[in-house]
Amino acid sequence: MVLAHLGSSITRALVRMSSATVVDEKALGDCLNEITRALLQSDVRFETVRGVQANIRNIVSLDTLAAGTNKRRIIQRAVFSELCAMLDPGKPAFVPTKANKPSVVMFVGLQGSGKTTTCAKYARHYHRKGFRPSLVCADTFRAGAFDQLKQNATKARIPFYGSYMESDPVKIAVKGLETLRKEGSDLIIIDTSGRHKQEAALFEEMRQVAQATKPDLVIFVMDASIGQAAFGQAQAFKQSVSVGAVIVTKMDGHANGGGALSAVAATKSPVIFIGTGEHMDNLEVFDVKPFVSRLLGMGDVAGLIHKIQDVVMPAAAAADDQHQQPDNQLLAQLAQGGTLLTLRSMYEQFQYLLKMGPIGQLLSMLPGFTSELMAKGQDKEGQAKIKRYMTIMDSMTDAELDSTNPKLMNESRVIRVARGSGRQVKDVRAMLEEYKRLAKMWSKMKIPKNGKMSHLTQN
Ligand code: GDP
Repeated sequence: MVLAHLGSSITRALVRMSSATVVDEKALGDCLNEITRALLQSDVRFETVRGVQANIRNIVSLDTLAAGTNKRRIIQRAVFSELCAMLDPGKPAFVPTKANKPSVVMFVGLQGSGKTTTCAKYARHYHRKGFRPSLVCADTFRAGAFDQLKQNATKARIPFYGSYMESDPVKIAVKGLETLRKEGSDLIIIDTSGRHKQEAALFEEMRQVAQATKPDLVIFVMDASIGQAAFGQAQAFKQSVSVGAVIVTKMDGHANGGGALSAVAATKSPVIFIGTGEHMDNLEVFDVKPFVSRLLGMGDVAGLIHKIQDVVMPAAAAADDQHQQPDNQLLAQLAQGGTLLTLRSMYEQFQYLLKMGPIGQLLSMLPGFTSELMAKGQDKEGQAKIKRYMTIMDSMTDAELDSTNPKLMNESRVIRVARGSGRQVKDVRAMLEEYKRLAKMWSKMKIPKNGKMSHLTQN
């Protein structure tokens, strides 16, 4: 998942604290030190980390807690809420609506940040929501920019405007707006030029395009790899043009992503999406609480359902007309709370997830499927493990699969199943352990109607 390492380090610190015999100053101190180290490794600014640490201490304030209160739970909640606060700029961004007048959104950023790719992903996102988005290429600085936008737009079936002859980006932007407005577009996205570094010419050009097109929203696109340097970069862009939102790209495989996200939040700019890969579908809505839930392995059921509906189902249906839309009973049950997970339902989830593709991303949205099972960049390994578990389950009886009591499997059955599936006894045990862990977590889950989980459910 995005920031798998950071998430698993913090989760590990919390689990260790939770399993300490007594939660005293020392256990809390050790836990906070581990969290601090993980955040610093993710390139979060030192001042921010110190603030997070101090705030958690204040909230917890062990001495003042009345005897009998659940300290573990209080610490977990404090960590959750401080991580959320660290990533929350406290300001919402403009959201396009299908009003009569088209919304105009202008993209700015340095060259190579992923701006052109993100424009197309953004258009596609709103296209799926029923908008009629369109793209304007006002990048006349980089050779090939128009061809790239054209290619992406064609792939995503989005109307576009650009020119090979005109060299004035302002003229192109104005003409593009006029043309696409006439064609009935309700969301016009303008891609502007970038430069290798922040320089006067870039900022001047941005200002002129903004003045001529009066965008409803200016989105600043930046690369996650710059980590805490995002603070300075976002500030510089904000000073030149009125940036209303940020998209952080290349969150896939960048350990600095946590630093970048928190640095942007510190500039009071809302991050609205994160880019998680080169593919057109690799754009995720960024919402602080579900993001932190996923980071800590608590899942983001709303995000998962959204992803299934928006991306997976249409793609599967397009690939196969006969395809019947999957009916995920377990997720429906989960929405009602108190789910009793059987091995068969775990098997069905595995089947379902294998069918759905970019598995790491999807799995990280399921509660309990933390980075241990699906560590960063190891999707293949994760898939192989899942397939191994499924082979083992293929050798089990119906009664075993439908039971909610894993103790049903005694030692001789474990050995028989291992033999029958051609796997080792330790693999069968590992699969049963995974099942027990998930069953425990899912049974405790309480999901509000919006599907977002707002607190840790593990004790
Ligand atoms: P621009 O110069 O800012 O317009 O950047 P481009 O859109 O041309 O992107 C530069 C490179 O970054 C391209 O190879 C993109 O495929 C890649 N890219 C963009 N967004 C992401 C992302 O979220 N993840 C990854 N891994 N690559 C990305």
